Amino acid sequence: MSTQGVTYVYKNEELSIEAFKEYRLNKGVVCKKCGSQHHYWLMSKQQFQCGDCRFRTTLRSGTVLQGSKLPYSYFFIAVNLLSRQGNRLTLDEFQKHTGHKYYEPLWEFLNKLKINLDEQERSLILATYSTILSKRLRVSSVTDNTFPLIQERQLIQSVELERVAAR
Ligand SMILES: [Zn+2]
Repeated sequence: MSTQGVTYVYKNEELSIEAFKEYRLNKGVVCKKCGSQHHYWLMSKQQFQCGDCRFRTTLRSGTVLQGSKLPYSYFFIAVNLLSRQGNRLTLDEFQKHTGHKYYEPLWEFLNKLKINLDEQERSLILATYSTILSKRLRVSSVTDNTFPLIQERQLIQSVELERVAAR
């Protein structure tokens, strides 16, 4: 499967938000006010709430995405490309994969990820996405960090169907 094809797997904002939330929970969310690591997810606000002092932490706060307004799917698209190509990944190519109109926010975004996420972190992020995707597809276990091709095809098919339906 081409790299462009694989990008479709990550172009799902809802799944991306869920996977990013899971990634943060795995890393441990620390309350800025009281230091507690005990958090609930407030679905309606899309924020974490401290179980001890009720202080709220936004999903982007304290992460590489802090200050960015770009979709969460861009994060996974970028990490996937970075894990395949390393830091040779160019801004042009990233822009092509996201389809985003403007250069500047992407430039800052991609640089931040290149600097802050090492290879191990990139694998962890993709593994988290894979787990969330598998759950969504009601597959009980994931054998490794790469997508079993059959799941990938199914997802792409459903994405294609959605696009046809939206016309
Ligand atoms: Zn707290």
